[in-house]
Amino acid sequence: MAADIIISAPKLVAAVEAIVARGGSNAREAKLVAENLVEANLKGHDSHGVGMIPRYVESLKEGGLQVNQAPKFELDTGPLVRLNGQAGYGQVIGHDAMHIAIERAQKHGLAAVGLHNAHHIGRIGAWAEMAVGACLVSMHFVNVVSRPIVAAWGGGDARFGTNPICIGVPRQGQEPIVLDFATSRIAQGKTRVAHNKGVPLAPGTIIDNEGRPTTDPRYTVIPPFGAILTFGEHKGYGLAMIAELLGGALTGGATMRKAYDGKSRGVYNGMLTILIDPAKLGTSEHFQSEIDAFTGWVTSGPKAQGFDKVRLAGEPEREWKAKRLKDGVPVDPTTWGEILAAAGKVGAASADITRLAGI
Ligand code: NAD
Repeated sequence: MAADIIISAPKLVAAVEAIVARGGSNAREAKLVAENLVEANLKGHDSHGVGMIPRYVESLKEGGLQVNQAPKFELDTGPLVRLNGQAGYGQVIGHDAMHIAIERAQKHGLAAVGLHNAHHIGRIGAWAEMAVGACLVSMHFVNVVSRPIVAAWGGGDARFGTNPICIGVPRQGQEPIVLDFATSRIAQGKTRVAHNKGVPLAPGTIIDNEGRPTTDPRYTVIPPFGAILTFGEHKGYGLAMIAELLGGALTGGATMRKAYDGKSRGVYNGMLTILIDPAKLGTSEHFQSEIDAFTGWVTSGPKAQGFDKVRLAGEPEREWKAKRLKDGVPVDPTTWGEILAAAGKVGAASADITRLAGI
């Protein structure tokens, strides 16, 4: 296996920004997309990092992903808002939708924002981090409209997407809790990363095209397709179903159906965001002291065998970020080759992108 290429975060941002800009995006969009993707890499989620660029370029080229869009209001009652993402870059649409949601929650104490028809909105934790940064509790239910890749509990083929759920809890003077995961055993991008690296998946992660258990990631990357399993057996499946219905249908968007099972490279997200302001609920001080007391109690217990400590959700991502800011972001050579090929498709010269990346 060839060694990873190590790129500093600011240089990786500059390289990705140049590719996105060549695809027709304005400077703000190129910056937001590049920073969001590199932040996912920094936080250890390579599945939602710069490796998404080839897919975005394919979607752009076939007319799925639309550049320079803004969320369009379809309903606005104050605390209740419905937005159409107009197939725009999810990094921009998600960012702007969260600004609207935060402003409404600060005003009313509560906000529910239904966003549909956004192109891939990436790492959902990014959106919770915006809200907890404004001292709000942040809840997100997300569906994915693309090729189905996850099987129902008991099902032998793929019927829906990796439908993430994310909840952010703000903490005064301390790092927030950010729980952010796919309801599939692993995110789809992680099967792509494994495939590109030529490494097997853990047993019990996927099934092949005949519904049989396999560890070969190609069954989720190239035909004939199998499916990823849900985490937590019937429980993860139940959460995936709820994320589909709340993120996809309640927001006014689409749910997954065979009709979307084409060759299109576009990937669209619907997201229901619910924000609560603890200060407006009148429990802010109590909430914070209970969070401190409970998390202190939970994390101060003895360590189980094989573990160095008990962590809170969000902590691993911060540890990854500290390390990668210092050491650089590893990009496997296959992914880097795909990124350069994608750059070529929008007319950006490989030599320029490589120079910007400092390699
Ligand atoms: P994951 O399995 O790595 O789980 C991550 C969550 O678990 C984080 O909240 C993390 O802080 C917490 N965690 C991890 N180790 C922990 C520990 N030791 N102790 C306590 N908490 C711990 O994540 P995933 O399911 O692979 O998802 C990766 C990313 O993919 C997420 O950011 C998700 O939003 C994103 N995603 C996006 C889409 C989309 O369509 N936009 C679809 C699926 C997933």
